[in-house]
Amino acid sequence: MATDSWAQAVDEQEAAAESVNDKAAQSLLNKLIRNNLVNTTNQVEVLQKDPNSPLYSVKSFEELRLKPQLLQGVYAMGFNRPSKIQETALPMMLAEPPQNLIAQSQSGTGKTAAFVLAMLSHVDPNNKYPQCLCVSPTYELALQTGKVIEQMGKYYPEVKLVYAIRGNKLQRGMKLQEQIVIGTPGTMLDWCSKFKFIDPKKIKVFVLDEADVMIATQGHQDQSIRIQRMLPKNCQMLLFSATFEETVWSFAQRIVPDPNIIKLKREEETLDTIKQYFVLCNSKEEKFQALCNIYGAITIAQAMIFCHTRRTAGWLAGELSREGHQVALLSGEMQVEQRAAVIERFRDGKEKVLVTTNVCARGIDVEQVSVVINFDLPVDKDGNPDNETYLHRIGRTGRFGKRGLAINMVDSKMSMNILNRIQDHFNKKIERLDTDDLDEIE
Ligand code: ADP
Repeated sequence: MATDSWAQAVDEQEAAAESVNDKAAQSLLNKLIRNNLVNTTNQVEVLQKDPNSPLYSVKSFEELRLKPQLLQGVYAMGFNRPSKIQETALPMMLAEPPQNLIAQSQSGTGKTAAFVLAMLSHVDPNNKYPQCLCVSPTYELALQTGKVIEQMGKYYPEVKLVYAIRGNKLQRGMKLQEQIVIGTPGTMLDWCSKFKFIDPKKIKVFVLDEADVMIATQGHQDQSIRIQRMLPKNCQMLLFSATFEETVWSFAQRIVPDPNIIKLKREEETLDTIKQYFVLCNSKEEKFQALCNIYGAITIAQAMIFCHTRRTAGWLAGELSREGHQVALLSGEMQVEQRAAVIERFRDGKEKVLVTTNVCARGIDVEQVSVVINFDLPVDKDGNPDNETYLHRIGRTGRFGKRGLAINMVDSKMSMNILNRIQDHFNKKIERLDTDDLDEIE
């Protein structure tokens, strides 16, 4: 095999490996880079267990009659009023008697803050034993939720928290004194059954976070169900998910009996406010040259450039740096925290160009970027156009979206075919751009 095609094959394998098990990393990344709520214009959909009972929703945190220490914690976090999903979810979760809840909304809509507040409200700090269990898909996600508990519970120091995660080894025979236990399903299950550090019969609130990520990991689903089976009948069960495919839904129903259900639709993305172009080239060198011409012709405040493989991304970042651009590179071999740091620097404008692999940046929102360049078009593992990724990368949510510019690089018959299929799929014209004559794009 020629060196180049061999390297290409290795790159393909890497790309495939990156996309597996990426859900948890993606979710963590979004948490690390997000420091406020996403804007939503959609209304929540509510399905009550008992449709005749009145539906409460609150417009302020005061209405919830929280403990003063918790209200103080909420305000100290800079929250002025409940988010859209919190308006309905919080009164349900804090009602007496406790109600079960399944809630779905995209990441960044305030789910974590909501169930953390519910857990903190329901524990009795005088009782020195676990009363709330919260399971997360990974160690890192558990730590993130733990941080929120610590922030919100800052003025309520009597409530203690412990992590049920691998590596946290306790002495046999001991009983936990902390009121809240947060961890991964395997360790949580061991602590409840094998080691009996936790008495599951005393649990009042059970939270299952990121259900969609959870079920993507082999074994987590069964472990979660086994934990749930050990809990008392009157334990409040809460389940959260960013997406809601059929598999998530059937899992949710096994975990949460008689639920209230809250759903908040994702903001629709649209290509209406985007000018889409393509550039015809013959090689990656030509694509790079076209890119330079574009940079020479128009003022680009910040751009994101997507490549199919790490190798191309690394090469392109090097070439652009040599041209004098301040370039940030996002690549699959980086730790999630490193990736978050790169994105934050870019978001703060410290670098003007972000070069990334297709899979690495899936699901990342960098809202202010007005120019997106597909150095390679997004394709799925079978080489078919990945329309969803294309839309997410380029599309804007209607009401908040600024106008944007998308440039697609085409370098073969195959990629031309992909471009045509993307164009047909969205039924939106992608215009040809002549990079030797760039008057038209500004
Ligand atoms: P999710 O769990 O749905 O991803 P989070 O609870 O993590 O959402 O909230 C997303 C971001 O918004 C976090 O930075 C969080 O601190 C912030 N946030 C949550 N609720 C509110 C609120 N009511 N007001 C302002 N910011 C909030």
